[in-house]
Amino acid sequence: MRQSGKVAAMVMQELAKSIAPGITTAELDKKAEKLIREAGAEPAFLGYRGFPGSICTSINNEVVHGIPGLRRLKEGDIISIDLGVRLKGYYSDTAATFAVGQVSALARRLIDVTRQSLEEAIAAMRVGAHLGDISHAVQSYVEANRFSVVYSYAGHGIGTEMHEEPQVPNVGPPGRGPRLQAGMVLAIEPMVNAGAADVEVLDDGWTVVTRDGSLSAHFEHSVALTEEGPLVLTAL
Ligand code: MG
Repeated sequence: MRQSGKVAAMVMQELAKSIAPGITTAELDKKAEKLIREAGAEPAFLGYRGFPGSICTSINNEVVHGIPGLRRLKEGDIISIDLGVRLKGYYSDTAATFAVGQVSALARRLIDVTRQSLEEAIAAMRVGAHLGDISHAVQSYVEANRFSVVYSYAGHGIGTEMHEEPQVPNVGPPGRGPRLQAGMVLAIEPMVNAGAADVEVLDDGWTVVTRDGSLSAHFEHSVALTEEGPLVLTAL
């Protein structure tokens, strides 16, 4: 899983270099697929329940599951990229939101708060803690910063399947849910809206957008719990 996670992290780092005004999301998708295959791995999202891309590309008010296509990024956009890798039978899943050129102060703050909410969640991951401690870490940090956590989608266990038990909600009380044990691997993925938490799915059957049209950001790491603490697998 460490190897799989490193491929995912490398691909994300390379995609980040390509994010600029003028590039299409399909071009980002093609680049991701090429890099994943060159690393001897497979794009885990491609064909998953019929998904047509190797990555999800979600722009501005799009929360998650955006389909790569001919849309060109423009100055001031924010784009969330979600990607999954399968290597030697093991999955990894990671996401990050990027600014396209200069973005508004609100967009910058949304990205920073969402990234930090993932860090807070990872810090809550220790042997003997409860699953709800992770959820609470995300929710309390995001709400203290006056943004909204998307509650209709959650993180998940990950391993020989992309989505395993348990679900990892981004909202909920601390001290509840199963106890965390060494050897567990969780994909923790806060989705945060600048406006209200409500979302809806577009007619394409995939793209999740904020109902009020507000900006949304998404960060995700696949994290293993060891006796010594959390180990982020989707990092270089
Ligand atoms: Mg995920």
